[in-house]
Amino acid sequence: MNKAAAAFTAASDYGEAERAMERQFELLALDEVFRPGMRVALKPNLVMKRAPERATTTHPAVVTAAVRALRRRGVRDIVLAESPGGPYTRAALEGIYAACGMADAAREADFRLNTDMSSDTLTCETFLRCASFPVIRPILEADAVLNLPKLKTHGMTTMSAAVKNLFGCVPGLQKPELHYRYRQEDAFCEMLLDLAQAVGPAASIVDAVVSMERDGPSGGTPKRTGFLAGSRNPFALDAVLADFARLSPVETVRLSLAHGLTPPLEEIERLGDEAVGVAFVPPRTKSLDFLDRLPRPLRPAARSAVKRLAEARPEVTRRCVGCGKCAESCPAHIIRIERGRAVIDRMNCIRCFCCHEMCPAGAIRIRRLRIFSL
Ligand code: SF4
Ligand code: SF4
Repeated sequence: MNKAAAAFTAASDYGEAERAMERQFELLALDEVFRPGMRVALKPNLVMKRAPERATTTHPAVVTAAVRALRRRGVRDIVLAESPGGPYTRAALEGIYAACGMADAAREADFRLNTDMSSDTLTCETFLRCASFPVIRPILEADAVLNLPKLKTHGMTTMSAAVKNLFGCVPGLQKPELHYRYRQEDAFCEMLLDLAQAVGPAASIVDAVVSMERDGPSGGTPKRTGFLAGSRNPFALDAVLADFARLSPVETVRLSLAHGLTPPLEEIERLGDEAVGVAFVPPRTKSLDFLDRLPRPLRPAARSAVKRLAEARPEVTRRCVGCGKCAESCPAHIIRIERGRAVIDRMNCIRCFCCHEMCPAGAIRIRRLRIFSL
C-alpha cells in the first residue's frame, strides 16, 4: 500500500456517508492498520457547540460510519476524543457532545465519549520547532488514532483539514499558549507539523460532504462538496485538498513539502472517485496583499510604512454579548470585557484569530481596509 495515496469517495449527502466510509477503508487497505482487539481513538473536529448543519464540526454521520467500519474489522474498543476551544472541562465537553450530535451518535452506534480530563506529554523525535506537547489521555492510550477532520477555511492557516485538526489533541487553554509561543505563521505551522508527526494518526478521513468556505473555521459559509477524502499520510492529504479547494498557498502544505513529509502533489497517487476541484472563497485574512501590486523597488519602504494598516485584524461588533469566550481564548491576553462588551488592545494583537474562531455570537469580524483587499 502506498501510504501517501489519497482517496476520494463520493457522498452527495450524509445518508451516503457509510458507503463512502467503507470504500475509504477498502481503498486505503485499512484492515492492515485497524485490527481486532485494538483500542482506537476517533479525533473529530468539535471546536465548539454547533449543530451539525452549520458545517463547523465533523458530522455525526461520518463518525458513526467510521465506528461501523471499525466494528466490521473486529475493533470493539472505540473512544471519541477531542479538546475543543476554551477550557477543557467535563461540563464543557458534555455540552459540546450534545450540541454537535455526538451524544446521540454514541448511543446509536455504541461507542464511548471521552470524559477523562487528564493529559500527559508526547514527544516528537524529528521535531522542527517543538519537541514535546501536552496531549489528552485517550489519544496517548490508543493503539491507533483515526483522524476525522472537517474541510474548512481557516483565518490563520488558510485551510483546516488533516494536520490542523490534530491541534485539538492539546488540552484546553494550552492551545493559546502554543499560539503565543509560535506567533508567526511559519513557526506555528511547523509546530503543527511536529504535533501531527508525534500523534501519527493511522489514517485521516476528512468530512467534505459539506465543507466551509469564507471566514472559517467557525464564521464561514457551508459549501456542499460531496465527498470523503482519506489518506494514511495527513500531509499528503492536505496537499491534495488545498489543490482541490484552490486554497494554495497553505503554509502547512508548503512546509510539509519542504521538509519531505509529503511527496510533490503530482506524485501523490489518487484513488477512488474523480474529484473536480472547486475554488473555495478564502478567508478575509488571506485576501490579496495590496503591497504585492506595487512596483518591486517600492515594496520594502511601503511595506514597513503601511504594514499595520494593511493587515487584517479582529474587530468587535454590536452583536457582542460580553460572554468572555474570546478573552478566555486570546493567547496574548489582550481582550477585556468592559460594560458588557469585549474590547481588544489592537496594538498587541498577534493576529491568530482565535477570538473570531471561538466567538459563539459571530460578534468578531475580520476587518481589512478595503483598499488593501481589492
Ligand atoms: S466578542 Fe463574542 S466571545 Fe467575545 S465577549 Fe463578545 S460575544 Fe463573547
Ligand atoms: S485579539 Fe484575537 S487575533 Fe488578536 S491575539 Fe487575541 S485572539 Fe488573537
